[in-house]
Amino acid sequence: MTVEPTPRKRLRLRVTAAAETAIRSGHPWVYADSVREANRPGALGELAVVYDRQDRFLALGLFDPESPLRLRVLHAGKPQTIDEAWWEARLRAAIGRRAGLFDERTTGHRWIYGESDGWPGLVLDRYGETLVLKLYTAAWLPRLNEVVDLIRRVLAPRRVVLRLSRNTQATAAKEFALTEGTVLYGPSVDGPVEFLESGLRFEADVIRGQKTGFFLDQRENRRLVESLAKGRDVLNAFSFSGGFSLYAVRGGAKSVTDLDISAHALESAQRNFALNKNDPSVAQCPHRAIQADAFEWLGQQPQRRFDLVILDPPSLAKRESERAGAIQAYGKLAEGALKILRPSGFLVAASCSAHVSTEEFFETVRQAARRSARKCEVIQTTGHPPDHAAAFAEARYLKCVYLRLE
Ligand code: SAH
Repeated sequence: MTVEPTPRKRLRLRVTAAAETAIRSGHPWVYADSVREANRPGALGELAVVYDRQDRFLALGLFDPESPLRLRVLHAGKPQTIDEAWWEARLRAAIGRRAGLFDERTTGHRWIYGESDGWPGLVLDRYGETLVLKLYTAAWLPRLNEVVDLIRRVLAPRRVVLRLSRNTQATAAKEFALTEGTVLYGPSVDGPVEFLESGLRFEADVIRGQKTGFFLDQRENRRLVESLAKGRDVLNAFSFSGGFSLYAVRGGAKSVTDLDISAHALESAQRNFALNKNDPSVAQCPHRAIQADAFEWLGQQPQRRFDLVILDPPSLAKRESERAGAIQAYGKLAEGALKILRPSGFLVAASCSAHVSTEEFFETVRQAARRSARKCEVIQTTGHPPDHAAAFAEARYLKCVYLRLE
């Protein structure tokens, strides 16, 4: 990508002392109310430089005049020229961090995880030869063509699809004529895109599906579930497209039951099972689907029993004000799951709510276990997989705890 054209003076910012400290410690966000001074109004996506109280260079980042998250830091420390070579090095660094993580049996994974890879507010996921570029800030829109050119040059995909978080959609449509699901490069998408995860075949709805089409962040937990599933009746609650279920089946589960509120999700799971029907374990294992609200269903099933229950609900706290309610909901879910687990059963409980901390979540599940009066031990806890490594607190949302009952 090219250096900024500089028809105007570089946008210069001064920030509060607290924001200076945060930037120095590597935090990538500067909020609007931390900006004390600007030499002029800034434009969407331009590079702004932050100077400290001694007028020394502190950082530079992507400016967004509309967002409360006013600046997303690209680089902090010594002054730095941002040119084509710099952008390319950044992309190659993200790719390098994933070197050796995936072989040809896993063609679905994350290439870029936003701030944590030095690409603030930008996610790049791979589904086979299709790449999905998801923007969480409109600040990338003015340089989208350059980003896509770079990605094409370095990763040589067959196709690049654009996904837009809700907060960017109005600007994208109005100022850049871009909509959610636009194919930025390559052939149009005529149905789900297929890819491999740990040798299992899956489809991803890259145009409309949640996140970028699949929950790539649960791969390592799915692998663990595979290792625990042998001979067990498995309930996959919040099953979405059946990711955990297929791993459980391959791990030798006796039966697998998907539970999801969405018919669309359950149908996608059926298709994913069909994609893997040549695997003998998949052909043999009974696979059931229940379309229901998992909270209600778990509360009303005193007669059904399982040996492994997976709880992977959507984020229950999208904002801080929902935190207390989310914790209660997690407790209720775990309690319901513990009631239907047979002796020696496993509970796998995940949370993707960034506003609920890892400790709060684990303690909530432990408390539910105490209330249930079932003896159990925590056998494993997990966080982010290596292709979603989080470099700062706000990027850390996923945690999972594994309990074994007596
Ligand atoms: N475990 C999945 C991801 C889960 S995403 C995987 O590994 O891919 C969350 C899922 O929960 C979605 O499929 C959504 O349809 C479902 N869902 C949301 N609310 C629900 C509810 N109250 N009861 C059951 N399913 C629900």
